Amino acid sequence: MLVCPLADCHLPLLRDGQRVVCERDHSFDIARSGYINLLQSQDRRSREPGDSAAAVKARRRLHDRGVTQPLLNAIGEITNADDVVLDAGCGDGFYLGTLARQTGFKAHGVDISIPAVDAAAKRFPENEWIVANADRFVPYSDGSFSLVLSITARMNAGEFRRVLRDKGRLLVAVPAPDDLIELRGAGRERVSRTLQTFARHFKPLRQSRVTTTAELDAAAVEDILLSIYRPMQSQPAQAMRVTLSLDFLLLEAI
Ligand SMILES: [Zn+2]
Repeated sequence: MLVCPLADCHLPLLRDGQRVVCERDHSFDIARSGYINLLQSQDRRSREPGDSAAAVKARRRLHDRGVTQPLLNAIGEITNADDVVLDAGCGDGFYLGTLARQTGFKAHGVDISIPAVDAAAKRFPENEWIVANADRFVPYSDGSFSLVLSITARMNAGEFRRVLRDKGRLLVAVPAPDDLIELRGAGRERVSRTLQTFARHFKPLRQSRVTTTAELDAAAVEDILLSIYRPMQSQPAQAMRVTLSLDFLLLEAI
């Protein structure tokens, strides 16, 4: 399923010791923690190389406190044991790795952030974790997956469709207007624009909003600010109630 990311190649990648290699001898390293690094030099120069180590750690601490459990449950409702799942923009692998253990589906995660994918591979070594720039190319062959997840991540409609089987499903989660409203004010409505983004390749099946609040201590509020790149400048973070709210769109490949 995994294919060479070079634009004029895209041949299958096969494991060869601590690397994967295609028939044209393009080779990529498998890290000690088990993830495969498919980044190319132009991706490394990118202005947005993905989450920093500090943001990844902050987000993992929040997941581990159970703050995001209702969001996890919402994703879990649509997964089945016989699914083959790609999480595009998987971050530290919390949603994909946790649900794969609960449900038993086959799990593949891609993210451009090395610290995020390294954390995912360390905690969930049973899954396949890839560092790659999925904005350009999702490094899997056509029709590899029954379900693609895009959870508050960047979207690549054409590539998501290509790697999905016919009638495969796509679950997209975008921040709802009241997400983290206590920290950043009301956000904009993203659902209609997101539906437009996918309209050419997908039809909508279902839409829902999952909202939860958490009473957070100062350290957890600081973690939220770190995870959204808004560390407190002058005064320390204070304990407060924080709203987490996502709009979920379930789509079917057409
Ligand atoms: Zn190749």
